[in-house]
Amino acid sequence: PKGKEAAIYDLYQQAAKLYHHMLVNTQAGDAALNYLTGRGLGRDLIDTFNLGYAPTNELLLPYFQEKGIEYTVLRDSALFIEDDEGQLHDRFTNRVLFPIRNMAGQVVAFSGRRMANDDSPKYINSPESAIFKKSRELFNLDLAKQMIRKSKTVFLFEGYMDVLAAYTTGLPNGVASMGTSLTPEQVGILTRFAETLIIAYDDDEAGQKATARAIKLVQAHSNKLAIKVVRLAEKLDPDEYLKKYGATALQNALQHSLETPLTFMRKYLRNNYNLANEAEKLAYIEAILKVIAQSPNQIERQIQVNELATEFAIKATTLEQQLSHFEQEPQN
Ligand code: ATP
Ligand code: MN
Ligand code: MN
Ligand code: MN
Repeated sequence: PKGKEAAIYDLYQQAAKLYHHMLVNTQAGDAALNYLTGRGLGRDLIDTFNLGYAPTNELLLPYFQEKGIEYTVLRDSALFIEDDEGQLHDRFTNRVLFPIRNMAGQVVAFSGRRMANDDSPKYINSPESAIFKKSRELFNLDLAKQMIRKSKTVFLFEGYMDVLAAYTTGLPNGVASMGTSLTPEQVGILTRFAETLIIAYDDDEAGQKATARAIKLVQAHSNKLAIKVVRLAEKLDPDEYLKKYGATALQNALQHSLETPLTFMRKYLRNNYNLANEAEKLAYIEAILKVIAQSPNQIERQIQVNELATEFAIKATTLEQQLSHFEQEPQN
């Protein structure tokens, strides 16, 4: 007999197939297909990413029960929600589904998007299970990894739709962390495939905050991964940017509207520190020095220190001394 994990992988594979079928072949899926088409996704893309639709009525439960799948396997799959009486119900109903695949291409989770602009959560994700550890997965890594290796570059997005937007502009080397902030495990995985990480989070406040956090995390966990930050505009995310300005504009922005982590952090921190206040100014300078300390080459660090010294009328030697403390912090 198969192990339970193998049985759960099997359920996800079947579920993804069934959800996709619902989306593309059934009348129940029409509204969902219209929703995706309305967001600019063509049939080829829908097939490539195996997008699906979970209908209003329960779909998986009767299907798997009919096949005689054991209750404990169904329960532990996380595809269902258990009610107070111990009765299982499909977790996803009336949502567009993005299958989440692991690096080997096996479906290990789903993320379901609402179609109406109601007050339910915009996305519902599968919880963790025997086959899904959220902190270790990156959406689309399985399809992207070949191109990441070839180009030595990976784009990191916030959302699934952003990964798809980049894909349609000819940039298939994009991944997304699953609605959570980047984890050390994910940084470790990306370091295996890429030399440059291009952070392309949303251009809103939450996205900038997440970018600053991601820069710090990467710098703390990898000294092999060079970082670039994409600057979009008008608080748009890549998918919205595509819709507003077109594919060529998005492709250009992702490839050429790039900032160094230092430039990004200087602008970002400037908005967060009141530089008229002496204590906050010191905190700002210290934060900037920490970023400078991560610059890979000595000349670059020297130029940056000189700029900072001029800007704040502080002796460069004082800054250098401070900088050397940050440089000596352990790196792996
Ligand atoms: P869309 O383009 O479909 O509106 P988005 O990707 O722009 O979605 P954001 O609000 O920018 O959505 O959130 C980024 C990511 O965070 C989403 O792609 C999703 O993975 C995750 N996320 C957003 N809202 C939720 C939620 N309510 N619950 C869980 N995850 C969420
Ligand atoms: Mn966002
Ligand atoms: Mn977004
Ligand atoms: Mn979006």
